[in-house]
Formats: sequence, C-alpha cells, structure tokens
Amino acid sequence: MATKHTPLENIIRKQIAKNGPMPVSRYMELCLTHPDYGYYLKQNPLGRDGDFITAPEVSQMFGELVGLWAASVWAAMGSPSEIKFIELGPGRGSMMQDALRAIKILPQLYKAVTVHLVEPSPALRAVQDETLGNAKHVEWYDSLTDVPEGPAIIFANEYFDVLPVHQVVKADDGWHERLIDVDDDIFVYTVAKEPTPRFDVLMPPHVRAAPNGAIYEWRSDTEIMDLTRRVREQGGAALIIDYGHIRSEAGDTFQAVAKHSFTNPLKNPGEADITAHVDFEALAKAAASMGAKAHGPVEQGAFLNKLGIEQRALTLMKSSSHDESVLVAAALKRLTGKGRNGMGQLFKVLGITHPSIETLAALSEPEPVSNLTGTMKR
Ligand code: SAH
Repeated sequence: MATKHTPLENIIRKQIAKNGPMPVSRYMELCLTHPDYGYYLKQNPLGRDGDFITAPEVSQMFGELVGLWAASVWAAMGSPSEIKFIELGPGRGSMMQDALRAIKILPQLYKAVTVHLVEPSPALRAVQDETLGNAKHVEWYDSLTDVPEGPAIIFANEYFDVLPVHQVVKADDGWHERLIDVDDDIFVYTVAKEPTPRFDVLMPPHVRAAPNGAIYEWRSDTEIMDLTRRVREQGGAALIIDYGHIRSEAGDTFQAVAKHSFTNPLKNPGEADITAHVDFEALAKAAASMGAKAHGPVEQGAFLNKLGIEQRALTLMKSSSHDESVLVAAALKRLTGKGRNGMGQLFKVLGITHPSIETLAALSEPEPVSNLTGTMKR
C-alpha cells in the first residue's frame, strides 16, 4: 500500500526525481517558506499552544530590556529625532510590544521611533498587527533592503537560525555538500559525489583539520551583508540574539521541533520548525570585513544580567500576586539559566554597529545600564 504523503513531501519528491538529491539548505528553505505549504507561511507556530516558545514569549522582561538597550544606543547616536526600529522575523510581535512600552519612559525617543517589520508570513503579519496595532503605526516588508532609508536599530531574535543552512561533510578528497534523497519511500541523507571545489579555502582554518565524517554548517552571507551595509551606510546598530556557537566549529545541529519536542527533520516536511545553530564567529567576521564594528558575542544570561534583569524581576514581583511572582522567578531562571533547560548560556548576543559607536550596553561595557522602576505590565 502506498504511503500517504503531505503536499510538500510530494513537491520535494518530484524535485528530487527531476533534479537528483537536494541540498539540505534547499530542503530547509522549502520546509519553512514554500509559498503554500511552508511551515511559517501557513500558520502561527509560536506560543504555549504552538510548537515552541521564544524568549519574548517567556516573559515581558526580555523585550523591555531590549527596548532599554536600544534607548542607550539611541543616546549614543546623539538622540536623533527620527529612528527606525526594524525587526527581522518578529513572530507574534511581543518583543517589539514590550520594547515600545519600556521606552515610553523616554518620551523623546518614543516619539522619534517608527516601526518596520520584515516578515514573509501573512499569518504572522496578522498576529503582529493585532499585537502592535494600538501602539504604533507599523509597516511590513519582504526584505530588509525594502525598508526606507534612515538611521535604524535592527533587532533579530531567533531569526538567523531559520535561514537555510548548508551542510558539508569531510572526506579524504575534501568537503562534500550534504544532500537529501529518496530511498524506499523515505527521505535519507547522502552526499554529493564530488567535493565542493576549493571549499577548504573558504572555511575557518581551525575547522579544516576536522576528522573525516565531520559536518560543517554554513549560511549564505546575504542577510548579514544587507544588515551590515545598512548600519554602516545609514547609521545605527543591530542586535542579533540566537542559539549558536561563539566560535566556528564542526558539528551537526540541523534539527526539527514540533509541539515542544525534537522530531526528525526528514519526516513530515512543513509540519515542524527546522533550524540549525548560528555561527556567531562567521557573522561577526562578515560584519567586520565590511567595515562595521562587531560587539560581543556574549551569552544571553550575561547580557540580560548586565541590563538589570534581576532588578526588573524584583520590581515586577513586588506588584504581583504569589502565583504571578512564581512565574516571574521561573522566567528569570529560564532566560538567564545555564545548562539544558536555560537559555542563558545556549543563546548568544551580538551587536553590529556603525564604526562611530564604540561601545554597546551590556556587550562591551561592564556595568548594568538600566534601573527600570515602573511596575507596568503587558
Ligand atoms: N523573533 C520572534 C520569532 C522567531 S521565529 C520571537 O523571538 O518570538 C522566526 C521568525 O522569522 C518568524 O517571524 C518567521 O516567520 C520569520 N521567518 C522565517 N523564515 C524566514 C525567512 N526565510 N526570511 C525572513 N523571515 C523568516
């Protein structure tokens, strides 16, 4: 009896039948952003009832501190009378909502800010509209390069991890692109027959010596180059937060998550979030090579601690019921905690700025910058 395939599975199988095995990066791209069946394009996957929870969904504290961080950047830029807040892949819009509320303590900044969201998913644009509709006028774009000119602060939380990743596998004769093929009705991994020409030249020298069979992951530079060009040419800064490694290294981090559990990325394409860890060294190097300044990366726990998250949690707890306080304490632990259940160590934070901005709060200076005293809640 023939197995029933999802529509996206059929599309991928047809492409493989026609063109041969498909690079992992192309498979990931189709799974996430196929116009009709892509995971992000057809639904809102975020939240407790969805497939996964991100830092802004864990607690309002996250977006608030990001907002205060942005306030310090704006001050370092000389408090311009117009500043764009641009967010890449804003999900439900919660981080922007919390950041905007936090910066209301600086009316001059709040007035200066316009909001620009880069989001391919119509389903998520609708959710963002609902979240942010009352706060500020919002404009949406398909790409960062479509956002009108002007100094900006760019935010990207859990954005780079969803961008298509290439995997190459080390062998005696070089690094071979990892591909996906069909075998006996299921998707399986294979590798390109020929090594990618001169791939060794492109990769970080300390990864070249990896043993045979090692997997190295890399992404196209397009996104980081667009972002860097923008801050270098028009002023401002970008804040990139994601799970990943501070140093480029070999390793297979291609993974799928559905309903808060890991699943096999080769099964049920389009039904799970597929990601790979972010190589922060590669991002920082690309930014520096284009004449911008990279700050960090640092671990998310250290970043939030320096921004004063403990103080903020205490303030929130003071005005909360016992049950709410327990949730605030748990959120603090989740956002800053080390180890497998915490995001504090696994997630890293990288700042990229115009070269005139020499230091960034919590990324290149030792002391907390905020003492958010308000008790306002979401
Ligand atoms: N930043 C949010 C959401 C993270 S999920 C949060 O922290 O909660 C990833 C986000 O990136 C979603 O908004 C998704 O629709 C968007 N996205 C996914 N693939 C994308 C792509 N190829 N290009 C641009 N945005 C993408």
